[in-house]
Amino acid sequence: MLTPPDTDPLTPEDRTLMGPGPSEVHPRVLRVMSAPLVGHLDDSFIEIMDEVQELLRYTFQTENRWTIPVSGTGSAAMEAAFANVVEPGDTVLVPTNGYFGGRMASMAERAGGEVAYVEAPWGEPLDPDAVADAFHQHDPDVFGFVHAETSTGALQPNVPALTDIAHDNDAYVIADTVTSLGGVELRVDEWGIDVAYSGAQKCLSCPPGASPLTLSDRAMEKVLDRDSEVRSWYLDLSLLEGYWGDERSYHHTAPITNVYALREALQLVAEEGLEARWERHREMATHLKEGLETLGLELNPEDEYWLPSLNAVRIPEGIDESALLRDMKEEHNLEVASGLGDLDGEIIRIGCMGYSARTSNVELVLHALEDALR
Ligand code: PLP
Repeated sequence: MLTPPDTDPLTPEDRTLMGPGPSEVHPRVLRVMSAPLVGHLDDSFIEIMDEVQELLRYTFQTENRWTIPVSGTGSAAMEAAFANVVEPGDTVLVPTNGYFGGRMASMAERAGGEVAYVEAPWGEPLDPDAVADAFHQHDPDVFGFVHAETSTGALQPNVPALTDIAHDNDAYVIADTVTSLGGVELRVDEWGIDVAYSGAQKCLSCPPGASPLTLSDRAMEKVLDRDSEVRSWYLDLSLLEGYWGDERSYHHTAPITNVYALREALQLVAEEGLEARWERHREMATHLKEGLETLGLELNPEDEYWLPSLNAVRIPEGIDESALLRDMKEEHNLEVASGLGDLDGEIIRIGCMGYSARTSNVELVLHALEDALR
């Protein structure tokens, strides 16, 4: 018989979260997370599912019927997109300009795709001419791009210029909107995005666990016409349709509390209004950017493709990055993050997402940075 470990009731740290995610969870979202569970097939839960789908359509700006929260974190929604849309033998074009393009490549390969690359330096967006050249060279069936690259703080501007190239070549577009949904302008239908996935823990200010995914009818036709079964049973959209479609029959037990949380987080988006919310993110991040400049700090990306929800700040010469982050955490109970991949050691990453995108948090970051740089 093992003896019980000597642990106490849980009291997690209460930090100010201004890193690349998770962001701080809105108090209303925390409140619904303590609500009692109902069954995942209960009539009242089915009503909540319908509402989540409606609210997701609004937040993605899409009329796509196939709009659901995938059980799991952003990577689960990402894998659902690639595993379903990519068939063995498909060529999949992905970007080299950040960490998450690399993850797309890995998922596309596991789905049986042949990966081709469109090149751009880390910290810069894709150039539509480079995308057109890559289409000419590789004739891809699927094109993935990252709308808001969390590893570099670069926003992909002019998305329709990319989706037009893909559609002129009969390809399907998968967009990573993990760090843009609910924080930065995103218009899935108007911009011609076939598939978009996201996470809950960034600009939606909800704990990770149920992750937004939307597919157009055209993309879903490709999925339903596949010659081979999707390799993942859990993420197979033709099976998930039984639960999230008209039937509402059992596939797996939905993470009920996460669905409540997402429902409330999306309700907050609807109450604020999407455009007002994009504007708030821009306003708060502008306040942050100006404060950083006053401290003599520079953002890594050019202004044209600055991503308000994730600010990549160049580390000044002679500053020890780990000491800086440690000071901010120990002295101010504040989380910001180091760089990732090619930009590791060159930038720190300051998020300005969802409920965290507010004046008091931005001012705390500036104060803590000033203190730590002294
Ligand atoms: N894509 C981007 C752009 C991300 O920033 C992240 C997470 O930070 C992911 C995908 C993966 O999401 P998760 O960590 O929730 O699985």
